[in-house]
Amino acid sequence: MGCRGMVSASLSERERVLWSRYTWCELKSLIPELAAVIIPTGSIEQHGPHLPLDTDAYIAEELAIRVAMECWKKGLKVLVVPTVVIGCSSHFLPYPGTLTLSFDTFMKLLEEVCTSVIHHGVKRILLLNAHGGNTECLHLVARKLRERFDVVIAVVNWWDLARDIIEEVCESPMYHACEVETSLALALSQRVIMELARGELKKPKSRFESTDLTKPGMVYVYRGRGRKELSTGAVGLPEKATYDKGSKILSTLVTRLVEVIEDLVKLG
Ligand SMILES: [Zn+2]
Repeated sequence: MGCRGMVSASLSERERVLWSRYTWCELKSLIPELAAVIIPTGSIEQHGPHLPLDTDAYIAEELAIRVAMECWKKGLKVLVVPTVVIGCSSHFLPYPGTLTLSFDTFMKLLEEVCTSVIHHGVKRILLLNAHGGNTECLHLVARKLRERFDVVIAVVNWWDLARDIIEEVCESPMYHACEVETSLALALSQRVIMELARGELKKPKSRFESTDLTKPGMVYVYRGRGRKELSTGAVGLPEKATYDKGSKILSTLVTRLVEVIEDLVKLG
């Protein structure tokens, strides 16, 4: 199987950061030049009455694309692997539309996507996560892969990387379909029905627990759901969300994620 490995000029600026828009011949010559790949991870789950089910998957993918485009401008070739769209969302199954994988299936899926890109010669992977329910699984997959391969894998939740800016620009705690997430969704041109944006703040079950994702707790309490009445599904105050708040968070995230990739490159 012979092929000329020239990368065609016919790809747009957005398409050229997408792994699956290339031919195999083009990727054959591009992969050795890659600084890293980004694997976005999201969820398909209820996000209150004002945001679509795909909000986490959408945020992860759009953010990854913007970061990769910024990297190319700086001469760093970074590709975005197709998003792992469905995540671990069993806690939201009572809400119509939520899709979930079991923890084991999610980890296996992610591990096999990573193993495939490593097989093709990728040396650095950034797992860019937009769904809190995936976090523990991402860390476990990264730890398992580094036992098997000589690769660098970073795991990041977007809200962890922008804690200080979130605190500066937003007025209410971050949890789910809240002011922070809705603002970022607005800045990324997600479908947002602002006139339906209503939520409730969540009370901690213990004074050592946190119900603000930007301020990690000291104790984590897990409690079975029982048969409770469904609330709106938004935990936080999404009515306070604005495009401007989201833009500030977005520009900080893009700058910092580019820096994270530069750091990974320095590791070799
Ligand atoms: Zn979300």
